This record gives sequence, structure tokens and C-alpha cells, in this order.
Amino acid sequence: MSTCIKFQKMHELSIVMSIVEMAEKEVKKANAEKVDSIELEIGTLSGVEMEAFDFAWQISLKDTVMENAERKIHRTKAKARCADCGYVFYSKTLYDECPKCGQPFNEILSGREMRVKTLTVS
Ligand SMILES: [Zn+2]
Repeated sequence: MSTCIKFQKMHELSIVMSIVEMAEKEVKKANAEKVDSIELEIGTLSGVEMEAFDFAWQISLKDTVMENAERKIHRTKAKARCADCGYVFYSKTLYDECPKCGQPFNEILSGREMRVKTLTVS
């Protein structure tokens, strides 16, 4: 159990660290000093655990260009398309049954993404 939690935190930590890395490059490119705000899009099926993400965020941003950045997170709802009848619906897991025909095999259309939507620097 504890190894599982540790692993989860490491996963989120590496995500946050790559965001910081990217932000540092952007700041350099724009000849700026810091990041003012950042908007993230995190799908509900991205595997990102928000509690761990917040924890990683707190410990990773100190003394970086991101330290005082305002953070906005959009949680994008996952959409799936039934492989049988083609019905598109919001899916809570990777294996939700189709609400129309009860078939469990679906194609996930969105909700797995984890991306930086906007980044403003000054
Ligand atoms: Zn269906």
C-alpha cells in the first residue's frame, strides 16, 4: 500500500517537474523573469491524482520561475464512444458500460490528456 502511494507521488512529481522545466524554457525564450499564471487541463482519466499533484506542486516550485504563478486547473470530463452502437457518453472509468446497449468495450475519445493550456510570463 505504501509503495503504491509513493509511486503515485513520484508519477505526479515527474509531471510537475516537466511542467517547471517547460516553463523555465518559455521564460528564457521570452526574455522574461517569471511565470505569472498557468492554466492546466487534466482529464479525469489521465491518471493524475489531484492530492498527489498538489503535494508535488508545493514541493517542486520553490526557487523556480513558477514559484508565485497563479494556477488554474480545468478538469476535462472523459468521453467515450461505444464500440458497438457508436453512442458517445461521459465515462467515469476506462471501462464504463454503454448506457444505451450495456456493452463494456468503448473507445476513449478524451479525458486522458494532461496539458498546459496557457502560460503567461513577465
Ligand atoms: Zn452502445
